[in-house]
Amino acid sequence: MYLGIDDTDSRTGMCTTYVGFKIILRLIEMGYDIIGYPRLVRLNPNVPWKTRGNGSVVIRFGKGSGEDVVIGELNGRRITAKKRLVHDFDANIDDLIKDVERYFVLDEKNTNPGVVLTRRKLPQWLYWRGVRELLTVDDIERVLKANEAQYKKYKNGRGIIGASCGISWRPKFRTYELLTYLPEDSFYKRRFVDPDTVKKLDAMFPSTFDNYDYENDYTAIMPNSTTPVLYGIRGTSPEELMRAKEVVKSTDYEGFLIYETNQGSDDHLVRRRIKDIKPFTSVIVRGTVSKKPRRIRGGHTIFSLEDSTGTVECAAYEPTKKFRDIISSLEVGDVVEVYGGVRGSPLTVNIEKIRILKSVPVKKKISNPRCPVCGSKMESIGRGKGYRCRKCGTRAGEEDAKFIVVRRDMEGFYEVPVIARRHLSKPLKLMKS
Ligand code: ATP
Repeated sequence: MYLGIDDTDSRTGMCTTYVGFKIILRLIEMGYDIIGYPRLVRLNPNVPWKTRGNGSVVIRFGKGSGEDVVIGELNGRRITAKKRLVHDFDANIDDLIKDVERYFVLDEKNTNPGVVLTRRKLPQWLYWRGVRELLTVDDIERVLKANEAQYKKYKNGRGIIGASCGISWRPKFRTYELLTYLPEDSFYKRRFVDPDTVKKLDAMFPSTFDNYDYENDYTAIMPNSTTPVLYGIRGTSPEELMRAKEVVKSTDYEGFLIYETNQGSDDHLVRRRIKDIKPFTSVIVRGTVSKKPRRIRGGHTIFSLEDSTGTVECAAYEPTKKFRDIISSLEVGDVVEVYGGVRGSPLTVNIEKIRILKSVPVKKKISNPRCPVCGSKMESIGRGKGYRCRKCGTRAGEEDAKFIVVRRDMEGFYEVPVIARRHLSKPLKLMKS
């Protein structure tokens, strides 16, 4: 059986992965085996109603076989899963979530939990639509009914969208995240993670990623809101994550859980021509820089990109910090591929990373022209207005100055810093895998 759950938390508290942790403990108590790692499946990062990272949680359970795999720990005791499923049991959705409903933040206006329980794995297309497009609760209910799934909606029940799309994920590319959880009486207390030990783990375990932002001195493994999560380490090897955890000095935690996840997969991105770009999707778009980048109010940097079908604005927002300098250095004529999420009005691609395919050379002025009549050095009349000879008054144009052609050699990939990274964005560090 697959249990999917989503939209249980609020911006100021709780976390759906913690609900997953509690459900796993309950399932084990009820005599079930957990099958494989639990999953944390990120969906369309541009849905307007997400709380934080649009993540859903999926747990597979039943009667398993094969060796025990450590997936977590509670108060020093190992939590294990089986590799394979032998057979399913019947299960009732209400029994499974009875004890965890109290963790749903139902009084928050934008929290609309959904829980789905299904014996059949849901169709794969549902995942791809969930991570790339917008779906409705009706779309999902049709699929759930066709697959004889049990489901439970709270309030407007939107959570069944994420819960179902999460269940339908078949990993093409997967990573893992080890999440540590605080004891319940510490959720709203001050917590501490030693940044130096995070830098140390970052250097020691190359299979981990997005641990620390050196440019902005930011400990990225620590959430910046008060949730049950103390920290989360991401990487491509679950065994290394467990070793990496030992390096971090922090407040005491009650337990940890390792999730298999689509974080860092770039699954949300679709190649599009400019005329086909739609709001609330994420795209890879290739084109030529058609207007020089400019800084706008709020510190965002924007440029225009064109292909044979149209023009679109691309933006590096203020939180992307030094990445904006790369964007500012683009020149008209550069050929680039922009990776990013699409905002509605005005239609703008919010850049997650950029690949510069061709950087055009630029002309750089090295000196004012010499007067063609008397040979003395000329002076500028004003920006864009040309030159005049101080001695004989002869005039010359802007183009008469001495220029050299400078190669820029900017070809390659550039990404936003860790502090501004989206969960689904594949870090360049993982680009070859
Ligand atoms: P996190 O657990 O990381 O904090 P989140 O809280 O940001 O995630 P949710 O609270 O899960 O995000 O809210 C996202 C909502 O959007 C959920 O109700 C989910 O079911 C719904 N949703 C997810 N994907 C889609 C989609 N493709 N189309 C429409 N709704 C979606």
